[in-house]
Amino acid sequence: MRVRLLLAFALVVLVTLASMVAVAATSTAGEVRMFMSGSGMMGIDLLAQDLEAYYQRNGSWAGAGQLLEDFRIGRGMGMMMGSASVHLRLADAGGRVVADNRGQPQGSLTRVQRANAVELRETGGGLAGYLLAEGGMGNPNAERQLLQRLLRASLLAAAIAGALAFLLAMLLSYRLLRPVEDLTRAAAGMAAGDLAQRVHPQGNDELAALGKAFNHMADSLERAQQTRQAMTADIAHELRTPIAIQRAHLEALQDGIYPLTVENLQPVLESADLLTRLVEDLRTLALADAGALRLQRAPTDLPQLVARVIERFRPEAEGAQVRLNLVDRSAGKAQQALLDSGRIEQILNNLLSNGLRYSPPGGTLTVDITVDGGHARLLFADSGPGIPDDALPYLFDRFYRVDRSRSREQGGTGLGLAIARQLALAHGGDLTAANQPQGGAVFTLILPLSPAETEIS
Ligand code: ADP
Repeated sequence: MRVRLLLAFALVVLVTLASMVAVAATSTAGEVRMFMSGSGMMGIDLLAQDLEAYYQRNGSWAGAGQLLEDFRIGRGMGMMMGSASVHLRLADAGGRVVADNRGQPQGSLTRVQRANAVELRETGGGLAGYLLAEGGMGNPNAERQLLQRLLRASLLAAAIAGALAFLLAMLLSYRLLRPVEDLTRAAAGMAAGDLAQRVHPQGNDELAALGKAFNHMADSLERAQQTRQAMTADIAHELRTPIAIQRAHLEALQDGIYPLTVENLQPVLESADLLTRLVEDLRTLALADAGALRLQRAPTDLPQLVARVIERFRPEAEGAQVRLNLVDRSAGKAQQALLDSGRIEQILNNLLSNGLRYSPPGGTLTVDITVDGGHARLLFADSGPGIPDDALPYLFDRFYRVDRSRSREQGGTGLGLAIARQLALAHGGDLTAANQPQGGAVFTLILPLSPAETEIS
């Protein structure tokens, strides 16, 4: 990635500089030409072109001296001024002077003179001769040399700018890619099992947003892992007790310590019941976690369903000497609620059995039904000890019990409220707990009467 980014930067810099140099070279060439022609120097090149054309036409330099003369008598003011003092000499390919604008041609051009002269070409490109201009505005190669110098200067400028740009590109690519490298490292760490990996996003750009999203994901994964670990430990712990009870009883029966009677088999059976409930509860929670808890909704008369369940609990309530009341204030507005009656019964069973379990003899457990804005609200108020304030936030956590040993003695799995809440949520409702001012716990179950707006299942 870094190499690709650097290459991309380098390409952009290169293209920019190349076009800059190309534009600069062509425009300076034009400018220089204009300047030169304005100052008279341009004429030498034009004369050289005329001489080449003459040679190509005639195949020799004979009579070409006339062109040097013509040049002198003018091609516009600029040239006149420039050419007036110019000493022009035309030499053949061997360097022998064949024409001179200051008298009779004589001698040959020296090597230095040839180097300073304009080379004249024949049609095939071969050397036809030299045009040497001395004096006047100076060296006839001035334009070419000036152009070359300008080109060299702009190439140097381009090279310096390119080097600076490349340095900047390296710095930028390092800065741009550092968060990506951090993310890669953290992701690799997480893949290797270290869920504590986090990145440190800076700023508010897209990469920072990606870093924040990554940290958020890592938080969730870490929490999920902790929950899973705690859950596995809890499950192992919960299974151990009934299994130990079963084993102890069965061994005692086998060794003849206990006689094999129906009463002595009872604890084994109760432990088996607890295990069955535990497994069933875990399965329900697993389904809820996976979002696979399918509700079978059907029009349900909610007050009637509550009344029926309450009637089932009546013998138990009488045994515990707890008064069980139903106050229906729904005014017939909850008779067609679209609910999964089996799942609602499960919630009611949990709340009623808890209420009865924690209410002292002589206490009351009241279920109050109201309907408010498309929702049924069911209050389960008991006259028990209530829930300690510090326990309220954890009450719906799996395996949470305020009093561990008491709950287990009474056959609780510690999953009842967690499941009840999941079932309420699956209906698009909610289940919350609080304490009444006068003492005792109150659970509030909210259920939408028509699931259209909050369907989850
Ligand atoms: P359990 O199987 O232990 O009853 P639950 O999930 O149903 O598990 O309840 C969790 C804990 O909440 C209980 O152990 C108990 O401490 C507390 N609890 C539930 N209902 C009541 C209530 N009506 N009054 C006081 N405490 C309650």
